[in-house]
Amino acid sequence: MSALSINISNLSEGVHQRTLEALPEEVGLDGRFSESTVVSATLEKTSRQLYLRAEFKTGGMFTCDRCLEEFRKELAGKFQIVYVTDERAQAGIEDEEVQLLSPEANTVDLTEDVRQFITLAFPQKMLCKEDCAGLCTVCGGNRNLALCDCEVEEADPRWDGLKKLLGD
Ligand SMILES: [Zn+2]
Ligand SMILES: [Zn+2]
Repeated sequence: MSALSINISNLSEGVHQRTLEALPEEVGLDGRFSESTVVSATLEKTSRQLYLRAEFKTGGMFTCDRCLEEFRKELAGKFQIVYVTDERAQAGIEDEEVQLLSPEANTVDLTEDVRQFITLAFPQKMLCKEDCAGLCTVCGGNRNLALCDCEVEEADPRWDGLKKLLGD
């Protein structure tokens, strides 16, 4: 049984809480994820289905896309899954992720779902801070740490019109 599995054999109807924790390698996360992943799951069992709401949190050391410094960042998110044992029950459920579960299943394994939702929570641009000043394109210095005196050619199209007016 994997670290992110929940035993559902003999689970009574009603609401159940589970907290799961897994090491990065158990979730299949790469070396940047240095912290364990914690999942708090709420399971709601009825006679027809099992409804899961999960919140996850993980973290690691990432490289800023702008200044190339390493920094710690936490990634968190949540997701829901409806588990049904009868294929026909899938039809009535919309806007929810539905997974088919064998009636004999003793566990639900969240590993793959958690791994996918962590990937989705990963920002397009990994920045150490929202207003990271990045590296100087001339001297390569980290402009968050010190402002250099380099003349940086600003490629800002808004100035083009002004330059024309000034007869540049
Ligand atoms: Zn940065
Ligand atoms: Zn510079």
